[in-house]
Amino acid sequence: MIATGAENVLPNQRVDIVEFTGSVLTDQWGMTEACANASQCRNFLYHEDFELGVIERVEESRADGIMQGKLLCTGFGTPEFPLIRYDVGDIGLWSAQGECKCGLESPVLAGILGRIDDYVVTPEGTRIMRFDYIFKHTPNVRECQVVQDSVGEIRLRVVRRDDYSNADEHMLREEIRRWISPSLAVQFEYVSEIQREANGKFRAVKSLI
Ligand SMILES: [Zn+2]
Repeated sequence: MIATGAENVLPNQRVDIVEFTGSVLTDQWGMTEACANASQCRNFLYHEDFELGVIERVEESRADGIMQGKLLCTGFGTPEFPLIRYDVGDIGLWSAQGECKCGLESPVLAGILGRIDDYVVTPEGTRIMRFDYIFKHTPNVRECQVVQDSVGEIRLRVVRRDDYSNADEHMLREEIRRWISPSLAVQFEYVSEIQREANGKFRAVKSLI
């Protein structure tokens, strides 16, 4: 079994992974703030993991028999910093009946909107969506957004901490050469802040091509 998370699995990605590995693919929905989680059952619907928190559905609207609305999350796992009715910024989909025939009785979500990230295209033609591992050893980077303006090149928009130096820039170039592409050109743009989107978060990867 393969468990995926963090971004929506697109239908073509699901088909490719299942065909290539011969495994069952089950997707998870959760968040770094750890105040809610939902896991796909054998029918590929998301069941709330109610041991971890409560998911409320608000501002509902209905289209074609499918309900959709904001998800407010109240978690049980972080008593040091409780998040109560936390608006995580994702939109949930559920059926009006809300049941699943798999036998589990926990509340069901049919899907999650709003977890589709951009990707960078390398000169080798590969598509890279996640860059977080590049920043594991660069604590002097407060925030970074990866922007692609043209094929063959990326721009790192970096908010620096006080101790940031050329060594950090060098390390980032090396990590990208090693893990992403040996021939991708990397530009640095130093900014005081990264613009937030409507949901209050910034997009880690932004493609303009
Ligand atoms: Zn189910």
